Amino acid sequence: MKTLVFIQIRDDKIEENTLGILNKVKTTFASGEIVGALLGKGIKSEWIEELGLHGIKQVFTADDPELEVYLSATYAKTMMEIIKQVSPNFVIAAGTVYGEDLIPRLAVRNSTSCAQRVVDFTLQGETLHFHTPVRNDQAMKVTKVVGNIAFATSRTGAFFIDEAPSGSVPEVTNVSITFDDKDKVVKHIEIKKAERTVNLKDAKIIVAAGRGVGGKENFQIIRELADLLGGQIGATRACTDVHWVEETYEIGQTGQSVSPDLYIAAGISGAPQHMSGVKAKTLIVINKDEGAPIINYADYVIIGDMHTILPILKKKIQ
Ligand SMILES: Cc1cc2nc3c(=O)[nH]c(=O)nc-3n(C[C@H](O)[C@H](O)[C@H](O)COP(=O)(O)OP(=O)(O)OC[C@H]3O[C@@H](n4cnc5c(N)ncnc54)[C@H](O)[C@@H]3O)c2cc1C
Repeated sequence: MKTLVFIQIRDDKIEENTLGILNKVKTTFASGEIVGALLGKGIKSEWIEELGLHGIKQVFTADDPELEVYLSATYAKTMMEIIKQVSPNFVIAAGTVYGEDLIPRLAVRNSTSCAQRVVDFTLQGETLHFHTPVRNDQAMKVTKVVGNIAFATSRTGAFFIDEAPSGSVPEVTNVSITFDDKDKVVKHIEIKKAERTVNLKDAKIIVAAGRGVGGKENFQIIRELADLLGGQIGATRACTDVHWVEETYEIGQTGQSVSPDLYIAAGISGAPQHMSGVKAKTLIVINKDEGAPIINYADYVIIGDMHTILPILKKKIQ
C-alpha cells in the first residue's frame, strides 16, 4: 500500500491532524510506504525532518510563490503532477477546509469518488475500508474502495499521535509546475485573522446559543452564565453568520468540535451540522418548541422562552 499524504502547515508547524494521519497510516499499513506532498512557499527543512520522524520516507515538495496560499486550482494541478509521479494507492488529507476542498477535486480528476471525514480506515485482505459516522454519529458507514486509487479526508480529531516519533530524514523530490492564466482565475487578496481565537475543544462547560437568542446584545446573558459556571460560550452558525458573535465560537461541522462535561443549548434547534460537533456528557436544552430535534439528544429539557429561563437559571446559580 502506497499512501500519499497531503501535508498541511498551520502556525508554522505541521498541523496536528496531519501528524495523526501519518501515525494511523504507519500502524495500519505496517509494510506500506508513506509519501508526503508538501506545497507552499519557503518550505522549511525542519518540517521535512519532522515528517521523517513520523514515518515518511519520501517527500515531494513544490516550493513556489504561487503556492504561498491555498488556492484550489494551483494546488490541485500540483497534486495531480505529484500523483502522476508517485502512483499511490491511497491519497489522504486531514479534513480541514483545505483538505475538504482539495481531495474531492483530485478524486474527480482521477474519475473516482472520495470518502470524507473518515474516523478510521482498515485493510481487509487487500481492500481498503473507510469508516464514516452517519446519522449524527449514531451509526457507522463502512465503504470499500474498488479501483486502483482511493481518496479520503479524515475527520478532525479522529487520528492522533500515540507513540514517540522516530525515523530518519526523508528523501526530497522537488516538483516544478508552470501555472498559466487559467490556473490563476481566482486570486488571493487577503487573509484576515479572527479577532479572537478560542479553544472550545478542551472546555468542560459550554453555554451555547442559537438563533433563538434573538440578537447580538442578548449574548450578554450567555456570557454571564458561562462565566458563572467557569465555562465558555458557544454558538450556532445562525448566530455567527449574522455576526451576533465571532466565528471562532461556532460549533459544528464547519465550526469547532466540542466534548464538554456539560453543554447548555439555548435557542438551538439541533441541526445535524451543529450536533455533529457536539459530544457532551450532559446536554441541557432550553427551547420553546417541544418538537425541536435537539430534544432527542438531551439529558434534561426545559421548554420555554430562554429570555425568561436564563435569568432564573443565573439567579439560581448565583
Ligand atoms: C454545509 C453546512 C455547514 C454547516 N455548519 C454548521 C456548523 O458548523 N454549526 C452550526 O451550528 N450550523 C451549521 N450549519 C447550519 C445548520 O444547518 C443550521 O442552519 C443551524 O445550526 C441552525 O442554527 P440554530 O439552531 O441557531 O437556528 P434554528 O434552526 O433557526 O433554530 C432556532 C431554535 O431556537 C428556538 N427558539 C426560538 N426562540 C426561542 C426562545 N425565545 N426561547 C427558546 N427557544 C427559542 C426555536 O424553537 C428553534 O428550535 C451548516 C449548514 C451547512 C449547509
